[in-house]
Amino acid sequence: MKRDTLLRALYAPNRGSGGYAFAQSPEELEKSFGKPVARLASNENPFGPSPAVFDALKHSLSDVHRYPDQEVKQFQNALRSLYGSYSFVIGAGMDGVIETVIRVIIEPGDKVVIIEPTFSFYKIATEAYHGSVCSVSLRDDFSVDPEAVIQASQGAKLTFLCTPNNPTGTTISQETIEKIAESIDGLLFLDNAYGEFSEVLLTPFDLMKKYDNLVIGRTMSKLYGLAGLRIGYAAVPDWFLPFYEKAATPFAVPVLSARAAIAALLDQKYAQEVRTHIMRWRDYIMQESPLSIVPSSSNFCLIDISPKTGEEAAQFFAERGILVRSCDSFSGLEPHYIRVSIGRDMECERLLEVLHAYAEDIKR
Ligand SMILES: *Cc1c(COP(=O)(O)O)cnc(C)c1O
Repeated sequence: MKRDTLLRALYAPNRGSGGYAFAQSPEELEKSFGKPVARLASNENPFGPSPAVFDALKHSLSDVHRYPDQEVKQFQNALRSLYGSYSFVIGAGMDGVIETVIRVIIEPGDKVVIIEPTFSFYKIATEAYHGSVCSVSLRDDFSVDPEAVIQASQGAKLTFLCTPNNPTGTTISQETIEKIAESIDGLLFLDNAYGEFSEVLLTPFDLMKKYDNLVIGRTMSKLYGLAGLRIGYAAVPDWFLPFYEKAATPFAVPVLSARAAIAALLDQKYAQEVRTHIMRWRDYIMQESPLSIVPSSSNFCLIDISPKTGEEAAQFFAERGILVRSCDSFSGLEPHYIRVSIGRDMECERLLEVLHAYAEDIKR
């Protein structure tokens, strides 16, 4: 039998163990509580995409028997007219781009630096390609210590910075990013998935002109409401582009996703409305919350729910109709936080009510 040999290879020490921790399923919760829940666990756009996206999708249905090609080029052109003439790569979500970048440059044993707590996929993807993860800790106030990152990045081929960071919602200053980009020899992957919700680093792609070891990733899943269509992108150095294209799967993004992304990107008025809604409610919730919230520059808040654990608090919120993300699974974060996305008006109002009920509950 081959199974045992194959299994032994899969259990090799640097293949990692955890895997992605998914949020609780809203369908299951709704079944067990018998009522609809506010889905505030995954940082999605609570309104869905621009109406222009649905038109684009309807018109694209007759083309699904063709491989996508022109669509992706058109999306790249749309990105260039919005952000400047950089080399953009497109993937199945930014996750797809992250995986491809790792596939391009990481060979077994190569070092990849991450700063925890952060988005778990960097580690999962690195370990899947037999890279070796070196983890630096955020400071107690969740800021980044540039010296620690620079030191850890010695001999590393790739360093991930996430700003605004998931799950903390905190940002890294442009000065710190530049200092790190300048001082390390490897590639710097700047994950800017929530960049549109932040006042810090308003035009990140300008940095591409100054550094030739910088990749800046963005996604259509958050502000633009296309999480279900799996499309993300990154600006990469010009010299890196041919290597990326050689390693990438030939047709990474569906026709429908590319057409939807173009329509979403072109409707900046709608994006701006969503952004304004999210930022207003985020700031209001931070101000009104009876529990301490880490100052957020994103479309979610990291809430300190001690003395309970994230799991216990998530249960409390679920029983009251709100699906939140327990942060117990985030490595490098103490187990007394939940992450809550900003929803629609009603959902935010309900969230504030339940935050007050929770604060009363832990007093007792
Ligand atoms: C959501 C997210 C992504 C990527 O999401 P995709 O849906 O794969 O585009 C990347 N980085 C961070 C920090 C995220 O939170």
